[in-house]
Order: sequence, then structure tokens, then C-alpha cells
Amino acid sequence: MADFDIVQLPARSDNYAVLVHDPASGATASIDAPDAAPIKAELEARGWTLTHILVTHKHLDHVEGIKPLRQAFDVTVIGPQKSAAETGLYDRTVTDGDHLEFAGTEVQVIETPGHTLDHVSYFLPGQKLAFVADTLFALGCGRVFEGTPEMMWESLKKLRALPDETVVYCGHEYTLANAEFAVSVEPDNAALADRAAQIRALRAEDKPTLPTTIKREKETNPFLRADDRGLADALGMAGADPVTVFAEVRGRKDRF
Ligand SMILES: [Zn+2]
Repeated sequence: MADFDIVQLPARSDNYAVLVHDPASGATASIDAPDAAPIKAELEARGWTLTHILVTHKHLDHVEGIKPLRQAFDVTVIGPQKSAAETGLYDRTVTDGDHLEFAGTEVQVIETPGHTLDHVSYFLPGQKLAFVADTLFALGCGRVFEGTPEMMWESLKKLRALPDETVVYCGHEYTLANAEFAVSVEPDNAALADRAAQIRALRAEDKPTLPTTIKREKETNPFLRADDRGLADALGMAGADPVTVFAEVRGRKDRF
């Protein structure tokens, strides 16, 4: 099994790009391309050559760096089929259930629409690694811009079904605001209160709160627990169906 070097790179105001490097072959992938400058600087500092960009969705803060990176590197850009025509940026397109290979390692494509209709997540089963961009955040989830709450809930359930130990990289450092919201929804969740305290301490030192894990999110993220009785009770929604609970939580967060 490949042993990848992974660098989580802050970009723009609160985005992350993630560089995945295989020391054996030299292959290096960037998960999304929020901004070419910090990605190029990091690659140069490490002596890495960019070979792939894996795009999760069409939003400008995930794709704006593609064109300048293409000018600097002989790179293959892989992105969702659903936004291929609109963006005109991809060399290869993917849909749900596709299997790619990166540096000899399997990459599974999971369509996770809701935030946008084209959104995909990338899962490396051999490495227990997932790149979920703006579908799932630490203690949060993406705003539902193009899909419906039901669509987003189905997408989150797909990610929740990944192995507990899966290490999850997200598109933004939104965790502190998400934590304050989650605590407001579920003040009696002890695991959440512990985690919120850790997050406040990390952010006070300007340290990243990501990556996270599926297990941690299942225990503390209200958006993954719309079918959890404890959460429905805390919202005064005992007996409501999960999509209704999810839509309520998402709506409260939008107004928080
Ligand atoms: Zn987005």
C-alpha cells in the first residue's frame, strides 16, 4: 500500500487545498485548486511536481487556481461530469461509483449533491481517506444552494456509511462557528461539549481543526444525526422524520 505524504494547505480566507504526494512515483494531486499561488509555493518548497487536480465541485473558490496551475504543470484535471460543460475545465470527468487510480491506489467517486448538484467526494479505501469538500464539515455541512434538504441528507448518509476510522478532509475551516451552533442545538451532548472546548483552544492558537474522522462526526455533528432520537428530542421534534429534522437544523444554522 502506498504511503502518501499529505499537506493541508490554507488558501483564500478559509479554504483548504490538500496535496497528496506519493514519494515512490512522484505523483502529486491537489484536491481542488482554490488559489494557484499557495499551491505552487508549497510544491516548490517541497520539490514536488503537480500531476493531478481532483475537483469536487464548480464553485470558484475550488477551481480558480486550475488555469494558472495548468500553465505551470503538465497536470490532469479530473472533475464532476455534471459541471464539465459549465466550467470547461476538466480533462477527465467522473460520476457516482467511478473508480480512479492515483499512484496505484484506488479512488472511489461518490456523488454527494446538495450544496451544488455536481458535488462529488473522493474516497481512498486502501488509505481510509476521504475528501468531502463542501458536503461535510467538521461539526457542520455545506449550505444547500442547489439541491434540496432531502438530497443533502442522502449525500451525508453516504459519507456517514464510510468506515469510522476514515480520515476526512473538508473544504473550509468553519469548525469554530459550527461548534458554537452545534452546542446551541444540543447543550447536553457531553462528547460535543468536550470537542467544542478542544476546537476553541486550537483556533485560539490559529491551528487547523481538520482533518476529522467519520467516527468523531457521527458522535458530535448534528447534521449527521438527523435520525438520532437525542437530537430530535433536543429540537423538540420527537418522532419527526429525519429529512424534516435535517431541514430544521440546516435552517437554524443558516439563521444562526
Ligand atoms: Zn462550495
